[in-house]
Amino acid sequence: MVEVNHDCVFCKIVAGEIPSYTVYEDDQVKAFLDISQVTPGHVLVVPKHHVRDIFVYDEELAATVFARIPKIARAIKASDPQIAGLNICINNGEIAYQTVLHSHIHLVPRYHEDDGFQMKWADNTANYTSDQLADLATKIEHEVAD
Ligand code: 5GP
Ligand code: ZN
Repeated sequence: MVEVNHDCVFCKIVAGEIPSYTVYEDDQVKAFLDISQVTPGHVLVVPKHHVRDIFVYDEELAATVFARIPKIARAIKASDPQIAGLNICINNGEIAYQTVLHSHIHLVPRYHEDDGFQMKWADNTANYTSDQLADLATKIEHEVAD
């Protein structure tokens, strides 16, 4: 059953209480233009079920939502021959720039280097020994297994 949060802007969009430019919809998922249009064709894909972030997805919801991404991605790319690539981003938590606390996947079409989208990606390779990397991997691996 789809859970709705009446204080949530994306639940209101899903319910049709706030208008949106819909590009795809089925019984579980809705995709619509992001109001900010970082680049033209910037789309948000949301589960209709109100979930805060990736940390609370179960495998069934993940399968449902992520299965829709490739066909929506291909449709965005097909909509404009100038689209050369696509960044797919999910912000989880305020520190990670999440502002709307209903999980959503950004599909941001890329046109050229200065098209409005930026991602800064530090390279800290030199700061880690192989032992430290092995420890980090082991800690995470154990959590996955739990
Ligand atoms: P976040 O920073 O949480 O990953 O992204 C939230 C996104 O939701 C922002 O890119 C913002 O432009 C978009 N957004 C916020 N309110 C609305 C709205 O009412 N309609 C639409 N279409 N997008 C919205
Ligand atoms: Zn919601």
